[in-house]
Amino acid sequence: MQRTDSGERPASPARMCVVCRGRFPKSSLRRYVLAEGAGLVPDPRAVLPGRGHYLCANPECAEKFSKYSVRPRRRRGGQGE
Ligand SMILES: [Zn+2]
Repeated sequence: MQRTDSGERPASPARMCVVCRGRFPKSSLRRYVLAEGAGLVPDPRAVLPGRGHYLCANPECAEKFSKYSVRPRRRRGGQGE
């Protein structure tokens, strides 16, 4: 693979912040993985299996991310939480 766009190449692949949908180098994002029964758990070392959800360093995104839910489908009777 030889691409000489402008002489510079991205240091790392870009990923999309799930909140603001901005694209950032993967190294500057925090990775979360949706864990069964536990919701989104941080995965700083990118060792967990599953689909990664990335969060950028913007505090606003962090706040929204806490409310962000992937909504696992619960198949339980309506027992009210
Ligand atoms: Zn963001």
